[in-house]
Amino acid sequence: MSHLDPERLAVIATGGQPTSDEQLHIDDCVECEVELAELEHTVAIGRSTSTLGELETPPERVWARILDDVRTADVRGAEQPAVDMADARRAGSRRSRLVYTLAAVAAVIFVVAGVWGIVRPAQVVELASATLEAFPDHVGSEGQATVLETADGTLEVRVQLDADDADAGYREVWLITADASALVSLGVLDGSEGTFLVPDDIDVHDFVLVDISLESEDGNPGHSGDSVVRGELQFA
Ligand SMILES: [Zn+2]
Repeated sequence: MSHLDPERLAVIATGGQPTSDEQLHIDDCVECEVELAELEHTVAIGRSTSTLGELETPPERVWARILDDVRTADVRGAEQPAVDMADARRAGSRRSRLVYTLAAVAAVIFVVAGVWGIVRPAQVVELASATLEAFPDHVGSEGQATVLETADGTLEVRVQLDADDADAGYREVWLITADASALVSLGVLDGSEGTFLVPDDIDVHDFVLVDISLESEDGNPGHSGDSVVRGELQFA
């Protein structure tokens, strides 16, 4: 069997399965093995520099166009005077076809990655959640908290509280360290649901308790000591 066609090497380098004959040849032929390794390396670079971690195989249609282009290039190559072609010239021709194929593969990877970057929805990842349980003075209350990481890396806490109306005062959402040595106010909970930004300097892995307190209009910005519900974040 002659050397593998550049387009076959390109397909294999991007995850296509070699036929058993092709695999046998690759195993035996240092030249094809090296060229395949170079292609795989280039593909890997293309993938790692794109923002897409899980790049998928380009659509069949796109591949068909690349292969058409490569075949057209082959035909042009065949039209050149082919008499007594020296090995070096053959190698050179093969090399240029490979470079051409490489460029096409790289172009597709960047196009696919680019389009994906434009169309993909803004990703929100759930980092942790907590079930908020009632304190003795607030039996019957309960809530949920979720820590979300938005596409730009900011963290927010969404809380939902099911409790009797606060007749006097208002409710405030806090993050507290496991040993209660430090706490930070996220803001006032208006109604039963709210979303709060986590300050940049707060690590939710340290401030693992989500607490909702009942506060009075006493001018004291600290925690009232009257917690309605509290729960510990469980990380996904
Ligand atoms: Zn070969």
